[in-house]
Amino acid sequence: MTFHPEILCPFCGLGCGDIGIDQDDSGIAPRPSGCPQADRLFRRPMAVATDARMAGTQVPMDQAVAEAARLLGAARAPLIAGLAADVDGVLAALTLAARIGATVDHERSDALFRNLAVLRRFGWSVTTLAELRNRSDLVLVVGPDPAAAFPRLWERWVAPPPAFVPGGGRSVVFLGGEPLPETVQCLAGQIETRGMETDPQPDLATLVTRLRTALAGRGAAEDPRMAELAARLRAARYAVVVWAAGLFDGPQPDLIVEALVRLVRTVDGTTRCAGLPLSGADNLIGANQACTWRTGFPLRTGFEAGAPFHDPDRFDWRSRLRDADVTLWISAFRPEEPEFSTGGSVIMLAPPETAITAEPALFIPVGTPGIDHAGDVFRADSVVALHAGALIDRGLPSVADVIGRMLVALEQSADAREKAGC
Ligand code: SF4
Repeated sequence: MTFHPEILCPFCGLGCGDIGIDQDDSGIAPRPSGCPQADRLFRRPMAVATDARMAGTQVPMDQAVAEAARLLGAARAPLIAGLAADVDGVLAALTLAARIGATVDHERSDALFRNLAVLRRFGWSVTTLAELRNRSDLVLVVGPDPAAAFPRLWERWVAPPPAFVPGGGRSVVFLGGEPLPETVQCLAGQIETRGMETDPQPDLATLVTRLRTALAGRGAAEDPRMAELAARLRAARYAVVVWAAGLFDGPQPDLIVEALVRLVRTVDGTTRCAGLPLSGADNLIGANQACTWRTGFPLRTGFEAGAPFHDPDRFDWRSRLRDADVTLWISAFRPEEPEFSTGGSVIMLAPPETAITAEPALFIPVGTPGIDHAGDVFRADSVVALHAGALIDRGLPSVADVIGRMLVALEQSADAREKAGC
């Protein structure tokens, strides 16, 4: 048995670097980390099927790659989605998209675009996880508990005493996410305010509007608890407003984000205040960064006109599924079957442990970054690229390897057509 201490976790975007992994001949297993995602996703068997499958029948990798290239090269409206890969995998996918005129989007981009829509309209003042941990003396958590998507957020980034706050005190206020979940137990005495409302609670948009009204100095008599919270925000040395827009319910979640951005701006006028919009599992942020470096646009970009063109509605992968005749679905982090249906063909790049109920046209097993091969992923606050090392060798290619082979096959078939005078 080998023990690997302090392994970087690539899954949710918090970048925990303290996972302990046991390895033996049967595979790897994590020591209990307090994170349900890490405890599940770092458990991988050594013996896995490394062959690709074509309509459920095992085929050599070369044959699968050639068939994938044939399908993608002949596609009228190809879609590259899922896009859950390390940065190299995403860059390879972008090269392929440009080559075949595909649309590119990440499975989890909804959460990202709820924030980006507001950033585009207003700009914003946001901070990092390190600033949250080291400098904030007041944390306002708005909406459902972000730890539902980022399990160790409180333990890793809020429970430790802030290094640069005189006296080391920090308070945490929850707005609109009550009742408080078990995940906040580690904050214990830091939780300053709870029970903003009794059951039933107003919706989140209403609560945020009431807080903004209180910050404007109105309605203190009718809403004394909001007035108290507004005063608390104004009195903080450095308040951080945290939200996970992907967890917001309701028809227009971006309007809640917009109200929060305006709220931050108001408080920031008299003391220090910043937002911390969290979204980023499965390297969503890295995929968006890579798309921006490569094309000048964020995700939801299409290459069908020969040059990159961005449209957050038209190139949302869920919309494009309706028209896509071939979908390349990339999901390197989680051995979980995606939930979507399409009338076109699906080429799936996913870990070999993935349990599939409806076999795609092609299934090509790939390794997971940080387990089967090294790879770079971005932290959820967008500012830090993390390098995850390899743990085991199961003979699985990376997403970048497989797509690189598809690109070679596409070139070869193009050359062959040219020689044949087609
Ligand atoms: S909180 Fe996120 S980064 Fe940390 S161990 Fe869990 S899944 Fe991994």
